[in-house]
Amino acid sequence: MKIPVLYVVVPCYNEQEVLPETTRRLTAKLAELVATGQCSPASRVLYVDDGSKDDTWRMIEAYHSQNPVVCGIKLAHNRGHQNALLAGLMAARDRCDCAASMDADLQDDVNVLDGFLEKYRAGCHVVYGVRSSRASDTGFKRGTAQGFYRLLAHMGVETVYNHADCRLLSRRALEELARYPETNLFLRGMVPHMGFQSDVVYFERAPRYAGETKYPLRKMLALAWNGITSFSVKPLAAVTVLGAVITLLSLAGLLAEAVCALCGVAVSGLLAAVTSVWLLGGLVLLCLGLVGSYVGKVYGEVKARPRFAVEKALLDQKE
Ligand code: UDP
Ligand code: MG
Repeated sequence: MKIPVLYVVVPCYNEQEVLPETTRRLTAKLAELVATGQCSPASRVLYVDDGSKDDTWRMIEAYHSQNPVVCGIKLAHNRGHQNALLAGLMAARDRCDCAASMDADLQDDVNVLDGFLEKYRAGCHVVYGVRSSRASDTGFKRGTAQGFYRLLAHMGVETVYNHADCRLLSRRALEELARYPETNLFLRGMVPHMGFQSDVVYFERAPRYAGETKYPLRKMLALAWNGITSFSVKPLAAVTVLGAVITLLSLAGLLAEAVCALCGVAVSGLLAAVTSVWLLGGLVLLCLGLVGSYVGKVYGEVKARPRFAVEKALLDQKE
């Protein structure tokens, strides 16, 4: 197997405090991987400046002029972590054999790259970096994150437990990812959705090296909501189920009231009126769910995701 060109894609938003140490560790790691023949000397660290307001881009320019192993792209505007990461992966796509992504704050251990490349050599197109523990997270972050993974699983969204956006993608997987035209990105769902041969590498997640989190609660909730609504139409199906349950219960109630009336047991008119209102409410919900099931299908069509990805083929050459 040819020695692969590895690009390490690092999205950065106002990361001037961590960049010197991140650059030192990543360039040292790449040099080590090149020296041990695990990746080609053409490998690079690719920073993506996500419209930072601090010195992040100026620092990236300075690192690039000192050492061409460090490259960068600068987004014109802050577009959020997922967009910045995708921008980096797409810039790396034609230049590399595989691309690893990690955060700028050194929470992801740079030594996962050894494991990533080992699994890549073994034939994996996707290698997920999974946290072996969440000891470095606050109790709040730990609880909300774990609740989120469970909720996603409940909603039928395929994700990898305790995996964020630290992963390796082969060039083939990057090309496939480029076929997803959606703008509401949730890479943690999109990558498993492609379904390539994959494996996991465990690592200890460290606390943020310096600076503050760029994912406040507002952004975390937006990402979680995006994850659910981009990959699951179960909330729409839940409306149908709720409508059906209310309709059936109200019908049963009305039937019971009719039987009582026939048997001569007095039934209050108010009770009958309330049951009818519930019946109507149930029917309205049922119809909403019905409309929702079409809306869900339209949503799927609009996203225009590829229907399948060919991983291997044993075919005759084309004439
Ligand atoms: N990030 C980004 N754009 C944003 C927010 C965050 O590129 O709008 C980057 C950030 O610089 C970091 C990564 O996304 O490299 C993850 O952010 P952070 O470490 O602050 O998130 P946390 O680990 O606290 O969830
Ligand atoms: Mg972080």
